[in-house]
Amino acid sequence: MEIDFLLIGQGLAGTALAYRLKQAGKKIKIIDQPEANNSSRVAAGLFNPVTGRKMVKTWKADSLFPVIKTFYRELETLTGQNFLTEKAIYRPFLSVEEQNEWMGHSADPGFEAYLERIYSKSQSEFLKDPHGGVMLRNSGWLNINNLLDAMTSYFKEELIAERFDESLLRRDENYWSYKELKVDAVVYCNGLGAMNSRFFNFLPFAPVKGEILEVKQNFTPDYVVNRGVFRVHLGDGVHRVGSTYTKHDLDVGATITAKNEILDRLTDLVKLPVEEILSHKTGIRPATRDRKPFLGKHPTEVGVYIFNGFGAKGVSLVPYFSEQMTSYLLNEKAIDPEVDIARYFNYI
Ligand SMILES: Cc1cc2nc3c(=O)[nH]c(=O)nc-3n(C[C@H](O)[C@H](O)[C@H](O)COP(=O)(O)OP(=O)(O)OC[C@H]3O[C@@H](n4cnc5c(N)ncnc54)[C@H](O)[C@@H]3O)c2cc1C
Repeated sequence: MEIDFLLIGQGLAGTALAYRLKQAGKKIKIIDQPEANNSSRVAAGLFNPVTGRKMVKTWKADSLFPVIKTFYRELETLTGQNFLTEKAIYRPFLSVEEQNEWMGHSADPGFEAYLERIYSKSQSEFLKDPHGGVMLRNSGWLNINNLLDAMTSYFKEELIAERFDESLLRRDENYWSYKELKVDAVVYCNGLGAMNSRFFNFLPFAPVKGEILEVKQNFTPDYVVNRGVFRVHLGDGVHRVGSTYTKHDLDVGATITAKNEILDRLTDLVKLPVEEILSHKTGIRPATRDRKPFLGKHPTEVGVYIFNGFGAKGVSLVPYFSEQMTSYLLNEKAIDPEVDIARYFNYI
């Protein structure tokens, strides 16, 4: 069978790129082994325009955020499912100084699109926010599992549910062959699986393990709370709380240390006790050393590409960069040099 693109991996990245290529009329196949580490299936799915300890606008927010809603809403219409929830994010202040700093930000036109309101008083008797906090907008969360399930059905003709074995990928005359497929181009969207690829093992991935809990707690405001940990209400008093970040213990198992860390941080945020821990999951984020994604073409192998390295922010990065990658693959439009893997070609 002759096809244009073989995509390896159907996490969030592979799904978005496969959708755009199929929409453009290309013949595609996707190989995905669901049991491989799949960061997307564990993620909380938050998109948050102002992040980090210093609360700065997230990298490229003004380019990324306008595409988020359009893209995921388009997939919702396509599949008839709902997976995008727009929600404000409330971040309590730790001090009066921080409150003042944010009062300053409120006059900054660069923050206008993301700043709903600044509160100088506590917003709930159940929150530990004596100095008030900032309410962010243009934020929310994506139910990535629902999106992937819906898109798996959409790709039923294209999806091959098995492990991709790179040793079977061979260059024959003008195409790549993989089992019975004749392929023009191969795109690695396989998250950390790309670290073991003979083509892309030179790229500096920097995997980060994350652990996340689902808990019952009887406080259900209409916003996400985020300080030290995020707390997303999923419905019926169930909240997703997390996540931890560790570069050292990359074992995929759940740890008591991480569970306690999340619960301690939640105690610093919410006054009510956790009634029950419903689940404890772990995953490893396909992060990169410079925290920028990996897009582009292998320097010497014809038709070998990568779309990867979305780290802790796949939900906000993938819609915008899947558009850029598609324009590159189909029309040779340049990739942003900040994400182009050409920045690492001297590592080979
Ligand atoms: C605890 C945790 C919390 C997170 N929270 C958020 C959040 O709130 N917001 C956010 O934006 N991001 C979050 N992330 C990060 C997010 O998960 C990633 O940015 C994103 O999902 C990466 O998607 P991906 O498709 O590149 O990789 P993956 O989801 O890892 O997908 C790779 C796919 O390739 C497949 N694969 C690998 N090797 C092979 C092979 N040999 N053969 C066949 N298939 C293969 C895997 O099975 C998988 O389906 C979180 C991550 C973790 C772990």
